[in-house]
Amino acid sequence: MNYWSDFLNSFPDILNWVWQLIAFKIPWYQNFFWGLILISLLVWLAEILFPWRKNQSIIRNDFWLDGFYMFFNFFIFTVFISGFYKIGGLMFSSFGVTMDSISLIQLEDLPSWLQLLTFFILLDFVQWITHILLHRIPIFWNFHKVHHSVKEMGFAAHLRYHWMENILYKPFKTLAVMLLGGFEPQQAFLVHFFAISIGHLNHANIKLTYGPLKYIFNNPVMHLYHHAYHLPKGKFGVNFAISLSLWDYLFKTNYIPEDSGTVLLGFDGDEHFPKGFVQQSLSGFK
Ligand SMILES: [Zn+2]
Ligand SMILES: [Zn+2]
Repeated sequence: MNYWSDFLNSFPDILNWVWQLIAFKIPWYQNFFWGLILISLLVWLAEILFPWRKNQSIIRNDFWLDGFYMFFNFFIFTVFISGFYKIGGLMFSSFGVTMDSISLIQLEDLPSWLQLLTFFILLDFVQWITHILLHRIPIFWNFHKVHHSVKEMGFAAHLRYHWMENILYKPFKTLAVMLLGGFEPQQAFLVHFFAISIGHLNHANIKLTYGPLKYIFNNPVMHLYHHAYHLPKGKFGVNFAISLSLWDYLFKTNYIPEDSGTVLLGFDGDEHFPKGFVQQSLSGFK
């Protein structure tokens, strides 16, 4: 009975949170709504000023579709799913699984810069593993196809992904936070904003590699090949990096044969893939 009321109560709470964001009642450094818009405008401006593929239109193919995905996955879906997550959390704790029982590191004991760094690296690593699973496991790949159906690359493609991906990433992200004693550092918003910026740039029509830092940070040149239609023989995917390219270099999943920016994107059979948001959101279940 309690679960049911908790489930229902979570909706007004989260709706209120979204409203507070939009109405700017949450300070700028924690405001993911306006933060996302600001980062998007800045990266878009950079695309306009320094385009990599010069003949690509400023409002490329699927620009508006991807823009909608951005807000859907970040806010609309969050409202929808919040009640389910709350129940999941309560069930976990009723089984006696508490954050302390599986924590590896007591994050609170570290200096704040080290808290942030540990949080960032661990969260990125579990997402890198999840991303590989999305390519490796056929039922997961069916959902991940939405992200790979982009044919012309631009910053907004970053958050074009099937709503099921929110659910598939969640257990791994939660596990990462649990390993850190269930503790998100106070300045975790810095990590989130940084990840959004790097993710936008990875998809942007800008030729950037960050010099020698390319071995640490993912970048547009590396990520474009993640979206390549033709993969090297025998591979189910390359360049799985989210923010850190480091994992691909360490585990030898890196692949950048050239950097003209003109590689064909998509996957085998993408000409039959649905083009609209509703059809794409319903795809992947067969
Ligand atoms: Zn992928
Ligand atoms: Zn991508």
